[in-house]
Amino acid sequence: MSAAVTTELKVIGHWIGGEPVAGQSGRSGPVYNPATGEQTGEVQFASIEEIDRAVAAAKAASATWRTFSLSKRTELFFRIYQLVHEHREDLARLLTAEHGKVLSDALGEVQRGLEVIEYVCGIAELLKGEYSEQASTGIDVYSIRQPLGVVAGITPFNFPAMVPMWMWAPAIACGNAFILKPSEKDPSASLLTGELLKEAGLPDGVFNVLQGDKVAVDALLQHPDIAAISFVGSTPIARYVYETGTKAGKRMQALGGAKNHMVVLPDADIAMAADAAVSAGYGSAGERCMAVSVVVAVGDAGDELVDAIKERLPKVKVGDGLDPSSEMGPLVTREHRDKVASYLDSGPAQGATLVADGRDTAPDNGGFFLGVSLLDDVTPEMDAYRDEIFGPVLSVVRVPTYDEALRLVNENPYGNGVALFTRDGGVARQFQFDVNVGMVGINVPIPVPVAYYSFGGWKSSLFGDRHIYGPEGIDFYTRTKAVTSRWPDPATSKVDLGFPQTR
Ligand code: NAD
Repeated sequence: MSAAVTTELKVIGHWIGGEPVAGQSGRSGPVYNPATGEQTGEVQFASIEEIDRAVAAAKAASATWRTFSLSKRTELFFRIYQLVHEHREDLARLLTAEHGKVLSDALGEVQRGLEVIEYVCGIAELLKGEYSEQASTGIDVYSIRQPLGVVAGITPFNFPAMVPMWMWAPAIACGNAFILKPSEKDPSASLLTGELLKEAGLPDGVFNVLQGDKVAVDALLQHPDIAAISFVGSTPIARYVYETGTKAGKRMQALGGAKNHMVVLPDADIAMAADAAVSAGYGSAGERCMAVSVVVAVGDAGDELVDAIKERLPKVKVGDGLDPSSEMGPLVTREHRDKVASYLDSGPAQGATLVADGRDTAPDNGGFFLGVSLLDDVTPEMDAYRDEIFGPVLSVVRVPTYDEALRLVNENPYGNGVALFTRDGGVARQFQFDVNVGMVGINVPIPVPVAYYSFGGWKSSLFGDRHIYGPEGIDFYTRTKAVTSRWPDPATSKVDLGFPQTR
């Protein structure tokens, strides 16, 4: 046993057909407590046979699940909402234990996921079709929305409960059976979800979990009985998953990485902008796809803004996520922490100014900590600007004009989120019109849309044509059928071999 392992390892398996299933492949991966650096678990990676078994269970369940009336599904989703809400702290504790985010942030994650469950409690309204009476004489035309069958979701480490909820809640409410392949770094929340859905009364096989890595992802992408796959993760994998899945004939949506800019104009409330930059840059240790990664200081906003951010940094309390006084936890793995910290060398080597070095302020207990870090005078050629760092390293780019700031944002290959801080409504309105980014915040640093809008970026932040959850999520998990109908009317019935006319 390695020196870092101090407790008996928790073995984390699959959830198939309404039951926990121990993995038999012999392949597995470590799960850590990032706050201590200790390995706490071993997650079993699915074999091809286990994947086939889960898909078969889902396929069998989907045939009956789609016949459940809308009122029964609604009732069930109210129960699911209730149970997840009651167990939100249990879920949050699992997130903190395996991801490292502070407990209050983990509770916030569960809450944002619950909002999507709340939205699909209105599934009866969301699945309404259209009806045109008398489209032609005696003929009515209507459309109905039907589920796709078996659908799958592949999710990233940074939101182990919320991102799966973005997928399974609408997918199941629409009448599909669902297979979740969570991140192998923090897999436990998915199993508690399985238990809660069963307790709520969801029929066995409608929700399944397959733990695993690339082997599981590739098998799902090729599986003939899976109709659609939602993916959220990094851009290179999102692109690969999207291309492979579409080639295999599946409906795909693949959300990728991000490099979110926060543009601060000289007329902005600088104190408010600095608070926002610190909150959005370092919350969840910067491991959010909507985290602010680059502050773009326009004109003479720069000096005052950097001073205001710098002044706030020593107050950010970094520590174990279970300590209620901690505001920022560790990063997810040692490798990721070291990669993030490497920008504190490459940035200055490429000409940036290191204003705050989080290596000096990280707790030194073996956990995967990095303190809040700030690079000033970053330019678009530097690695710190080009890469999605995904950690507590905030970069400041200084530009002379608003036009330069807009160009910088629009030329960036990512287009997930962007924020503008200003007091000028006219400029804000023009910015919202011109900016090539999927989610825009006006004096709001993390503009994650509410559950009744849809979430998704542009450019390399999303592959596919539908955003996730909200109305586009319902679209993604259903297909429409148009029915043209005529009922026999003895008064008008006759043989007519001509092409059907609408007038
Ligand atoms: P990741 O791409 O490494 O992993 C995502 C999923 O893909 C995991 O389930 C993983 O097991 C699987 N995977 C990893 N490598 C694979 C491979 N070679 N082939 C097939 N499957 C593979 O992402 P991550 O590190 O878990 O999550 C962080 C990334 O996710 C960041 O880039 C972040 O911006 C992004 N993200 C995006 C959004 C969004 O909504 N756009 C939301 C959350 C996270």
